[in-house]
Formats: sequence, C-alpha cells, structure tokens
Amino acid sequence: MTECLFCKIISREIPADIVYENKRILAFRDINPQAPTHILIIPKVHIPTLNDLESHHAKMVGELILTAKNLAEKEGIAEEGYRTGFNCNAAAGQTVWHVHLHLLGGRTFTWPPG
Ligand code: 5GP
Ligand code: ZN
Repeated sequence: MTECLFCKIISREIPADIVYENKRILAFRDINPQAPTHILIIPKVHIPTLNDLESHHAKMVGELILTAKNLAEKEGIAEEGYRTGFNCNAAAGQTVWHVHLHLLGGRTFTWPPG
C-alpha cells in the first residue's frame, strides 16, 4: 500500500483527468490549475524528487519532456508558448513527493518566476 498521492492516481485509487498514458508515463490535469492549460506529467515509477534521479532514468526523463512537447501541440499552446518546470524540494514549492513535470500554457508568464 502506497501513501503517495500520485502513485494512487497511477493505480486509479484516486480519479484524475488523464490526458496521456503509456507504459512508463502518465499525464493528467492539475486539480488546482495555475493557467488555462496545467498538466502534470509523471513517471509511473515512484521517485520522490529530482534529487533522487539516477543515470538509468535518463530515457524516462527525456520522455517526460517529449510528452510535454506533444501535449503542448495537442492543447494548441505550442506556437504561443508555454512554461515547463520541475519543483524540487520545499524552497521550490514542491508539495507532492513524486517527480512531476508541470506543463502550463494559455496565458503569458513572467520571468523570473516567484
Ligand atoms: P508541486 O507543488 O509539488 O510542484 O505540484 C503539485 C501539484 O499537484 C500542484 O499543482 C497541485 O495542485 C497538484 N495536485 C495536488 N493534489 C492533486 C490531486 O489530487 N489531483 C491532481 N490532479 N492534482 C493534484
Ligand atoms: Zn509515488
């Protein structure tokens, strides 16, 4: 039994608006969207933070990013532009301890981020 929220979404114990899935990856809409498009792209393997990544995860991490690119196209935000980001640990605002790539779009973003 896992206590991880995102592992529970992967196992369908908790419902989510899933927009893409393959053997290694799941993508679903954020429950508290910060932009018109706000999708979380996660590995199906439980990895708490970016600090826990190892070299054998490289292909999966690349696939997370390529999935963001493909979903941006599908959401119609590729041309206007979009923001992607991994928050790592408390200072960056990480609140769920399962690696996730945020894909945000449909509005203008400022830089640097808050
Ligand atoms: P973090 O702050 O860790 O970078 O991002 C975690 C994200 O998960 C937040 O944007 C938050 O809104 C989202 N989130 C938290 N709980 C749930 C949930 O139960 N379902 C979905 N779809 N998103 C969630
Ligand atoms: Zn997990």
